[in-house]
Amino acid sequence: MSYTLPEFLAHAIALEKEAADRYLELAEMMEEFGNRDVAGVFRDMSRFSKMHGDDIAVRVGGIELPRLRSWEYRWETPPESSGDKPSFIMTPLNALDYARANELRGMNYYRSAAEQSADAEVRRLGGEFADEEARHAATLDQWIVKERSRVKLAHHGASDGGL
Ligand code: ZN
Repeated sequence: MSYTLPEFLAHAIALEKEAADRYLELAEMMEEFGNRDVAGVFRDMSRFSKMHGDDIAVRVGGIELPRLRSWEYRWETPPESSGDKPSFIMTPLNALDYARANELRGMNYYRSAAEQSADAEVRRLGGEFADEEARHAATLDQWIVKERSRVKLAHHGASDGGL
């Protein structure tokens, strides 16, 4: 779909809001799980999304944004959460993988918006935002590596205590 600048900005704001909300949920979930490190990662990610959304709102300035009727970008539902069962059973590793997959979806979303738009500013911003999502995914990658080795250590009975 070829976005005009106002359409693109409206979607970008919605995307960042969605990410900020989902990250907050994930952070709370990880706190319940007792993993404060991963909860902290998600709190940071939530803050970044919020800040990015705020920056975009500044960029919007006086431009009138269309109301989104159908919002085509949403985070996937976590595979673990089915029906009325809350997704608290997600392990930190699951949660990180899940977040990473959604960052990549966000990246692809921005990338294709940039590629398909005839508007030079949409092309520029879309590329910029896609790069930002790629950096978020890379940050999560590092945490996934960290979390994997932590889980492995725990399974081998290393006695560093904490979950
Ligand atoms: Zn992101």
